[in-house]
Amino acid sequence: MSEGATTAAHDVLLVGGGAAGLRAAIAIAETRPDLDVAVVSKVYPMRSHTVSAEGGAAGVMADDDSIEEHIYDTISGSDWLGDQDAIEAFVNEAPRELLQLEHWGCPWSRQDDGRIAVRAFGGMKKMRTWFAADKTGFHMLHALFQTSLKYRAVKRYDESFVTRLLVDEGRVYGVVSVELATGRIRAITAKAVVLATGGCGKVFPFTTNANINTGDGMALAYRAGAPLKDMEFVQYHPTGLPFTGILITEATRAEGGWLLNKDGYRYLQDYDLGTPTDKPTLRSMELGPRDRLSQAFVHEVEKGRTTDSPWGPIVHLDLRHLGAKLIDTKLPMVRELCLQYERIDPVTDLIPVRPVVHYMMGGVHTDIDGRAGLDGLYAAGETACVSINGANRLGSNSLPECLVFGARAGRAAAEDAAAAPAPPAAIAAQVSDETRRLEHLLARDTPLDDGVARIREELQTTMEDAAGIYRTGPSLEKGADTFQALRERVGAVGVRDTSPSFNTELVAALELENLIDIGECILRSGLAREESRGAHQRTDFPKRDDERFLVHHTVRRDHDGNPSVDRLPVTITRWPPGERTYGR
Ligand SMILES: Cc1cc2nc3c(=O)[nH]c(=O)nc-3n(C[C@H](O)[C@H](O)[C@H](O)COP(=O)(O)OP(=O)(O)OC[C@H]3O[C@@H](n4cnc5c(N)ncnc54)[C@H](O)[C@@H]3O)c2cc1C
Repeated sequence: MSEGATTAAHDVLLVGGGAAGLRAAIAIAETRPDLDVAVVSKVYPMRSHTVSAEGGAAGVMADDDSIEEHIYDTISGSDWLGDQDAIEAFVNEAPRELLQLEHWGCPWSRQDDGRIAVRAFGGMKKMRTWFAADKTGFHMLHALFQTSLKYRAVKRYDESFVTRLLVDEGRVYGVVSVELATGRIRAITAKAVVLATGGCGKVFPFTTNANINTGDGMALAYRAGAPLKDMEFVQYHPTGLPFTGILITEATRAEGGWLLNKDGYRYLQDYDLGTPTDKPTLRSMELGPRDRLSQAFVHEVEKGRTTDSPWGPIVHLDLRHLGAKLIDTKLPMVRELCLQYERIDPVTDLIPVRPVVHYMMGGVHTDIDGRAGLDGLYAAGETACVSINGANRLGSNSLPECLVFGARAGRAAAEDAAAAPAPPAAIAAQVSDETRRLEHLLARDTPLDDGVARIREELQTTMEDAAGIYRTGPSLEKGADTFQALRERVGAVGVRDTSPSFNTELVAALELENLIDIGECILRSGLAREESRGAHQRTDFPKRDDERFLVHHTVRRDHDGNPSVDRLPVTITRWPPGERTYGR
C-alpha cells in the first residue's frame, strides 16, 4: 500500500452495485450514452444484500386496487412522517418500474391465467406485492445486473472499498477506494457521485442484514458534511431465526402462517395492532405492521409467555397447516433456510423466531431526485432517506423504492455531470491524506487486549440496550456515554494483518469507523425525539406528539466532530395526519 494511490477518472460514479446502484447505472447509460459511468462495489454486485430479499415488491396492479390506496397505506404506515410528494411519485412510478424489470428478464410469479400474481403484505390493505417465488431480490438483481452488462459505458470496480468522498468547496468530485485483491489505493474521480450502499443493520447484534451492511455510504456522506435524516427510525422484523438473524419472510404470514407463544396460543389477538377486529380481514392478524408485532413480542416476554433459547427468548412461527405443496411452490427458500440453518422442516416442525433489526428508515437526506446535501452528491436505495418510509416502512416498498429513486437519482446525476466542472487539482491533497491515514491504520500497534471484533460486539450490545424495540431518555443517554468511550478505543485500534491481499481485518476496521458514526447519529436523533411514533417507541413518552414532533430530524457533523440534530418540516400535501390503522 505504500506505493501511493493510482487514479482513474469517470463522469458519474456509483458507490454500490445493489438494486439502487445498478438501476441508477442503467438510467445514466440510457439517458446520457455519452457519459462514462463507473460502479464501485465492495462485493461482487450479485452478492449485494438485495439478493437476499425474499417477499416481493409493491406496485399497484390488480383491478380492485388504486394508486390512492397505495399512497394512503404508505403514508399511514409511515405514521405520517413520510413526505407525501415523494410517496406520490413513488407509488405512481413503481408499477412502471416493475413492468420494466419484467422486460429485462425478471420472472415474476404468475396466476393460473398467466397474469402477474400479487400477494398480501403487512400494512398493505390490498394485495399488491409482486414476487418471484420467495427469491424476489435474487431475480430482480439478476435482471438488473444482466441489463447493466449490455452498456459499454458502464465500468466496474468489483471488490473495491470506498473509504472517503473527495470534496472541494462544497462539491463532490469522487472517492478514494481500496482494491481488496491487491490492497492498492485508488482515487476515482467523477463529476457526480451516487451513494447506493444499502443499510446499516450491523449496528445491532441481531439482524437480517448481511455482514456488509455497515452504513458505509451514510458515514461517508456524514463525514463529508452532508446531513442524515430520520436516523432514529430502525425497523425490527418480527420473524428472524434466533442465532443467525436470517429472515423468515413476511410472505410466510401472507400465505397464512401463525405466530404462537409457548402455550401454542396466537398471542397477537391480545394486542392492538391497529387492525379493526370487527370487520372481516383479508389477512390474518399476523400481517399487522412490523413495529407493532415486534412490540407485542416484548410484552409476551414480560408476561413470561415466550420460550427460552440460548439466544434469548423466542416464539414460534407455524406453517404446518399450509402443507408441503404450498410451501414448496411459494416458500421454497424458507424450507431450505430452515433445513440448512436450524435442521428443522417447516412442513412438520415449528420455526423458532425472534424480532431482529431489519431495515433503516433513515439515511442520507435527499430530495425527490436523490440530491443530497452537497453539490454533485446523490443517494438512493436504503442508504438514502427521501423519505417515503417515515417512521415505519411497509414491507415490499423498499425494492421498488430502489428502482424508482435509483432511476431518478441516476438521471439527475447524469444531467449534473454533463454540465459540471472537471475535478480540481486541489483534491490531490485529500487523496494523499487518505493514503497516509490508511497506511497509519496498518502500521499502528493495536492493544493486545482489544481489537475490532471486541469493540464491534460492545457497540452492538450498547445499541440494543439503548435503542432497541423500546427506548427511554436514560437508556439513550447511557448509550451515548458508552459511545464516547468506544470512540476512543476505535481511534486507537490498529490492524494486525498487514497483508495487501483481501485484508478482511482492515475492512472490518474501516467498517467499525462507520458503525460508530451511524450508531451515534441513531442515539442522538432518538434522544431528541420525545414521543413514540412508528418504530421509535419511548416508554417515557408513549404517545405520538404531532404538535412538537411532526418533523424530520436531520443530523450533521459539527465543527468538533459531534452530531448536531436539527429539524425539517414534513411535506404534507393532501393527507392530513390521522390515526394509523390497518386491515379492512
Ligand atoms: C433479508 C432481507 C430481506 C428483504 N426482503 C425485502 C422484500 O421482500 N421486499 C422489499 O421491498 N425489501 C426487502 N428488504 C429490503 C431491501 O432488500 C433492501 O432495502 C434493498 O435491497 C437495498 O438495496 P440497495 O441497492 O439500497 O443496497 P444493497 O443491495 O445492500 O447494496 C449495497 C451495495 O453497496 C456496496 N457498498 C457498501 N458499502 C460500500 C463501500 N464502502 N464501498 C464500496 N461499495 C460499498 C455493496 O457492495 C453493495 O453492492 C429485505 C432486506 C433484507 C435484509
